[in-house]
Amino acid sequence: MNTNIDLSQLCTLGVGGVAESFAAPDSPEEVQQLIKAAKGSPVYVLGGGSNIIFPDGVIHGLVISTRNLSTITWHDDMSADIQAGYKLPVLVKTLRDKNLAGLEFAAGIPGSLGGAVSGNAGAGGHGVCELIESVLAIDSSGSFRVYNQKDFSFEYRKCSLACENIIILSVKMKFREAKPEEDENIYQKFLSLRKNQPLNFRSAGCTFKNPEGNSAGKLLDDCGCKNLRVGGAVVSDRHANFILNTGNASSSDVTGLIKICSDKVFNNTGIRLEQEIKNASPCFFALL
Ligand SMILES: Cc1cc2nc3c(=O)[nH]c(=O)nc-3n(C[C@H](O)[C@H](O)[C@H](O)COP(=O)(O)OP(=O)(O)OC[C@H]3O[C@@H](n4cnc5c(N)ncnc54)[C@H](O)[C@@H]3O)c2cc1C
Repeated sequence: MNTNIDLSQLCTLGVGGVAESFAAPDSPEEVQQLIKAAKGSPVYVLGGGSNIIFPDGVIHGLVISTRNLSTITWHDDMSADIQAGYKLPVLVKTLRDKNLAGLEFAAGIPGSLGGAVSGNAGAGGHGVCELIESVLAIDSSGSFRVYNQKDFSFEYRKCSLACENIIILSVKMKFREAKPEEDENIYQKFLSLRKNQPLNFRSAGCTFKNPEGNSAGKLLDDCGCKNLRVGGAVVSDRHANFILNTGNASSSDVTGLIKICSDKVFNNTGIRLEQEIKNASPCFFALL
């Protein structure tokens, strides 16, 4: 366990305060011990930090990083248990190397598998939850729980597991044999979509979800949000749904800018955009 860890270094946006207590356990059993020792404290979970904003200042309680939960165990040629901290880009590469398919749409999405499942990350109408057979998680009492496919639901950028007050520990996923040319083309198509993203500055990807039948980026652009700035945070002039850290942004700069953009779109169109980037909140308070 470490104290006073600067979370801005662990989040792709480069903002956020200092964790009072921080741990990166190596096994589910170690997560269990940490939760049991945390008695009454708020417990946060951090994956790859590519879709989360911690507030400025001290974050009281325990932040558990999944970065060392990073093994993959194959059951057979097609299915594997993958720990929550396994990096999604590494998983995509592992599958390509093994001539397996199913996750082509995730080409270029950063972060961990646990974070991806929690928000059903994806692109082009697909999300990682489509491939899940079961999930192993842990709750506020330190009890392990298994969720089978029928026990949870998911939709665009949403998974019901995110409301269960649990930490996802590992995910059993099933893939399929690749059709070499066809799946490679799909993979390259999704990868090429990334060319429009402003990757030259730190960001947390898209700020808002697309409202049904509409594009958040287009709405933001039409409402004049490009180049709006608060402190060191600015709305990209290439992709209006990306907020960039120009170097010295604080968390409150980013959240302030998010509010300005959201209000601008609401006042102009009547549409209240739903935030895609997560404001950090405790998964649970560890049981006494
Ligand atoms: C350049 C860029 C491009 C991106 N493109 C896309 C895209 O195309 N599609 C897309 O969907 N997303 C995209 N994202 C956003 C982000 O990469 C994904 O949402 C990603 O899946 C988040 O995973 P993470 O591990 O980084 O999660 P984090 O940012 O660490 O956490 C996100 C949320 O998940 C929770 N969480 C993390 N791990 C666990 C766990 N083990 N158990 C329970 N809860 C957990 C956190 O508490 C937090 O609420 C992009 C981001 C960037 C920076």
